[in-house]
Amino acid sequence: MTGSKLQSVRGMHDILPQDTPLWQAVESILRRGLDNYGYRQIRLPIVEKTELFKRSIGEVTDIVEKEMYTFTDRNGESLTLRPEGTAGCVRACIEHGLLRGANLRLWYQGPMFRHERPQKGRYRQFHQLGVETYGPKGPDIDAELILLARQWWRELGIADKLELQINSLGTLGERQAYRQELVAYFSTFEHALDEDSKRRLHSNPLRILDSKNPDMQSLIEGAPKLIDYLGESSRAHFRGFTDLLDAAGIVYSVNPRLVRGLDYYCLTVFEWVTGELGAQGTVCAGGRYDSLVEQLGGTPTPAAGFALGMERLVSLLAHSSLAQPAPPHGYMIRVGAAAEKAGLVLAERLRERLPGLRLVVHAGGGSFKSQFKKADKSGAPYALIMGEEEASRQQVSVKPLRKEGIQQMLDFDRLIEFLQSEFNFQ
Ligand code: ATP
Ligand code: MG
Repeated sequence: MTGSKLQSVRGMHDILPQDTPLWQAVESILRRGLDNYGYRQIRLPIVEKTELFKRSIGEVTDIVEKEMYTFTDRNGESLTLRPEGTAGCVRACIEHGLLRGANLRLWYQGPMFRHERPQKGRYRQFHQLGVETYGPKGPDIDAELILLARQWWRELGIADKLELQINSLGTLGERQAYRQELVAYFSTFEHALDEDSKRRLHSNPLRILDSKNPDMQSLIEGAPKLIDYLGESSRAHFRGFTDLLDAAGIVYSVNPRLVRGLDYYCLTVFEWVTGELGAQGTVCAGGRYDSLVEQLGGTPTPAAGFALGMERLVSLLAHSSLAQPAPPHGYMIRVGAAAEKAGLVLAERLRERLPGLRLVVHAGGGSFKSQFKKADKSGAPYALIMGEEEASRQQVSVKPLRKEGIQQMLDFDRLIEFLQSEFNFQ
């Protein structure tokens, strides 16, 4: 049984060390934006009771119908690896009484699981950063969610790659009236519907609008538009939203076919879309979901949020300068048993004095020559050399690797002074 190579589960990927610097740089920019706008992090379990997703996302959705990783726990309970974060976030807020008199701005981040057909930008384990707000019911919070995202795109240098599409789904009642019109329309073309759409015609006809099948597109183009079926209050909410976007100089287009793949949305929905990632062009998507809290057993609380697909965002940034990891300030070379010990101790004293110092200590032995090669490859501007002589004199030699300059032997205090003046540590 030994020797055969194991591979990761299809559609579930490792994020390798050459890619983590970009992920970390992106995550830190996203986090700074969230801090600045007053959003606080919540950390949620990856597994929830299956019922939670059925009751929130909706029985007749792609996710619940065919994408969930559901299993029976040893005690016979049906559990599911979370396919998205909103349901768990609402569950947690109700459970811990966070919604009383709520005016909450929350975010979370982590892996999500959906059994989809893997392709570029579509995986079975993927990562989302989710943002949720509870309490405010006006369009100003919808607009804030857009502004937060735009601020991220600017910071990340991709504002010109993302377009905002918006729509309004109105209220449940308005959607029901519209639904009848939609069923009537698609019924007259039933022969032209694909299998999925035929199935949805009576169970969840709005979802037909969301179809990715190119053969369905012209039929969908001709369908009645939900936005024409909205009542005055929904229209006013949408007008309020677009007024704020206009005032803030946000460019958007109204996409009447934007219905989102989950049942809990109402009123404002939006997607940030790019043309650079092929068919999987939606990077960030969300909207308002005013009835979900009540639906899951909480006091009625207006809510709005979005989820950002991290893999898609990161692949938009693949060639950006953010991808460069910061090289170490120094790479320590040690040759000889006494030098190895002295170097290790010296490195710790340096780290203690200069908490910002990035210092890599060579491990695994080798000649001066081979260690210098590693030092060079590390990108560090300086090699700190600990040989027999340095060890016996309790000093260290410093040699510039990226510019001309002499090698000098320094004692601890002079080394600290040298590093301080080179790198300006706080
Ligand atoms: P799509 O229409 O692409 O299937 P969705 O409507 O199912 O997306 P949401 O549930 O709204 O997507 O998730 C929000 C974001 O999470 C998406 O816009 C996308 O960026 C990302 N996302 C969703 N599913 C996947 C997946 N399987 N792999 C990678 N990213 C995903
Ligand atoms: Mg999907």
